[in-house]
Amino acid sequence: MDHFLYKDGALHAEDVAIADIAAAVGTPFYCYSTATLLRHFTLFDEALAGMDHLVCYAMKAASNQAILKTLAQAGAGMDVVSGGEYARAIAAGVPGDKIVFSGVGKTHEEIRAALTGGIRQFNVESEPEMEVINEVALSLGTVAPITVRVNPDVDAKTHAKIATGKSENKFGIPIARAREVYARAAALPGLRVVGIDVHIGSQLTDLEPFRLAYRKVAALTEELRADGHDIIRLDLGGGLGIPYTRSNEAPPLPVEYGAMIKEELGHLGCEIEIEPGRLIAGNAGIMVSKVIYVKSGEGRDFLILDGAMNDLLRPAMYDAHHDIVSVVEPAPGVEQQPYDIVGPVCETGDTFAKERMMAPLSAGDLVAFRSAGAYGAVMASEYNTRPLIPEVLVHGDQFAVIRQRPTFDEMLKRDTIPDWL
Ligand SMILES: *Cc1c(COP(=O)(O)O)cnc(C)c1O
Repeated sequence: MDHFLYKDGALHAEDVAIADIAAAVGTPFYCYSTATLLRHFTLFDEALAGMDHLVCYAMKAASNQAILKTLAQAGAGMDVVSGGEYARAIAAGVPGDKIVFSGVGKTHEEIRAALTGGIRQFNVESEPEMEVINEVALSLGTVAPITVRVNPDVDAKTHAKIATGKSENKFGIPIARAREVYARAAALPGLRVVGIDVHIGSQLTDLEPFRLAYRKVAALTEELRADGHDIIRLDLGGGLGIPYTRSNEAPPLPVEYGAMIKEELGHLGCEIEIEPGRLIAGNAGIMVSKVIYVKSGEGRDFLILDGAMNDLLRPAMYDAHHDIVSVVEPAPGVEQQPYDIVGPVCETGDTFAKERMMAPLSAGDLVAFRSAGAYGAVMASEYNTRPLIPEVLVHGDQFAVIRQRPTFDEMLKRDTIPDWL
């Protein structure tokens, strides 16, 4: 459920008409709904009620500080995967002891910054990284809390580019080697083992792969405890999928996911962390774009939009489907026609949809890409020297620009010309 609905024939975000935002900020732009963000966070928080837990929003899904602050004020922690994300979380007022640091390539500098600024734990992804965290912690005269990310070798049954829990993926340590790696961690004086981490992929639409992974984590918890490790925390990653089409998909609900976690892991008495990204932000955001031209091709009509693959990469990168709706509600019963919906970038991959059935549209009309809140704005680039598009946050009947569109001048000034030219 989200808060992007038609009211009196016009698409709204909560109580604000999308057309009003478009008139104020220009197109294209991203628009997020505060109520939807909070609703999704609360669903997870409530799903884990009764267990000691922390929902750490995986901020790589949508990392604007206004979004972080909205969620942090509701009690969310953050899962960060880079020094830049760590700096954003701190800037948004998230306390260090609610930030977990994931990612396969943490550098010395990133580790030092997190240890200095405060960190809940590092999720360690390899043995060399473990040695470096130990060294940096010792050099700072501190002890780094860690979990080890184990790779449970389960098939997440999702798109290959977002599956992370098979042995061929670059993530984590093979679960079969976990005891050996934990023994090494326990021997390093700069580290304090606090738990186990697992994350098997993104956009999972079935609970079974999670269940298989968590069963392996439960067994490992018992083994590691028998080996003398103090396993007090289980970080279960993110990955729960969202419906990208309104009609035919019904991924498991957070409440079902929470119940399964209790079933599989509740008896261990551990604190549970989860790291949802997509499910919190995905359906809490849309991208709004304007039709520049309607071009008649051979046997097909193209809708050429002012938004492009550099603004919303998911269709080009993952063959992802986004529902695209007219901002003016089509009259009931109006006959639809197929359109190929494309952006202006000079790549054939700059195609959002083929033969998409839509009520007829003309130049100047506004359309909205639904479910664009996660892995949307954060993946945007300035390819073709197209400015990063603005982000807007709606709260009830108010809206605010939370990231401005840069001017061409600002973009051009980032280049510097060497003296010899
Ligand atoms: C990407 C990622 C997440 C979030 O995944 P979603 O599918 O967006 O919920 C959580 N944890 C880690 C370690 C990740 O890399």
